[in-house]
Amino acid sequence: MAKTIAIDIGHGSDTFPPSKGVYKNGKGYAEHDFNSKVGVELDKLLKHNGFKTLMKQKPFAPDVPLITRTNYYNAKGVDLVYSLHANYNGSPDVNGRCVFYWHTANDAKKLANIIVDEITKAGYSTHGNGLHASKPNSWTNLHICRETKMTAVLVENGFMSGDKDFDLVFGSKQKQYVKDMARVHAKAICRYYGVKFKDLDGTTVADKPSKPSKPASKSSGSISVGSKVYLSKSASKYATGEKIPSSIKGKTYTVQQVKGNKVLLKEIYSWVHKSDVGGSGKSTASNKPKSKSFSVGQKVTVKKSASKFATGESIASFVKGNSYKVKQVKSDRVLLDGIMSWVRKSDVY
Ligand SMILES: [Zn+2]
Repeated sequence: MAKTIAIDIGHGSDTFPPSKGVYKNGKGYAEHDFNSKVGVELDKLLKHNGFKTLMKQKPFAPDVPLITRTNYYNAKGVDLVYSLHANYNGSPDVNGRCVFYWHTANDAKKLANIIVDEITKAGYSTHGNGLHASKPNSWTNLHICRETKMTAVLVENGFMSGDKDFDLVFGSKQKQYVKDMARVHAKAICRYYGVKFKDLDGTTVADKPSKPSKPASKSSGSISVGSKVYLSKSASKYATGEKIPSSIKGKTYTVQQVKGNKVLLKEIYSWVHKSDVGGSGKSTASNKPKSKSFSVGQKVTVKKSASKFATGESIASFVKGNSYKVKQVKSDRVLLDGIMSWVRKSDVY
């Protein structure tokens, strides 16, 4: 049985300002934004390694209260709650990564030790020895560690306020750092459950579902990655079991992933049943961009008009107009070597 990991993305898009973030040179940086990036990357890696994941707190979305989160995890009976954060200290001299576990939880303590080991192996420093036992009546008394019935850890992926860590968490090294940290956490979770870690590199995991475990169920027609689908007004629950708010229904979304009888809708980052979506606008979607075909090794140029990576982040101006080798091709996007980023096919020529 695949283990279910709750990826608990720290805070929400509405928590900074006023708190949970830092200012540098007059610019604000939100912790949730960084936590979301690590969470999305970790989600990919865990699924690739055969885990089930769920996110009660969606990335880049308004804050879900802690009590709602832990009630949900407990009700769902997930195997592990993995909370992603970045730390703050008044002094810029304080840097390093650390992990919290409930002081009486030996399972969480074991996992915390593995995480610290993976952080060190990846070449990053820890704050102190990187381990904090979370206890009542102390500053370490963290809700996520205390109120969860299952194994739970809270990881501080560096200090937002640290002179060294800022550059990793929010600055020029963020892209690589997010990948590195997600990899650290995926490796630690694999190790903890005795699963051999498989990296995303060199595979075509995203092209097709890599696990032939579920027979591609009787699906309603051919829904492909990149196509637009209409979420039925009569849909009631997500494939993950939560209720679909009515504000989400009756709208068109882009398919980001297809798996068995489920599809992942990009704009809301949620899995829904295929039977709840219809192919509105699908034909237009498949008529136009299909004309472009790219191959691995080919050199392409990023359009000056391109604004965002396929993963949603803004494209830095130095990337625009520049040429890169294609490293991987997926239905609507290409992975560019050198910057190791996914760019929509419509944004390159
Ligand atoms: Zn936090």
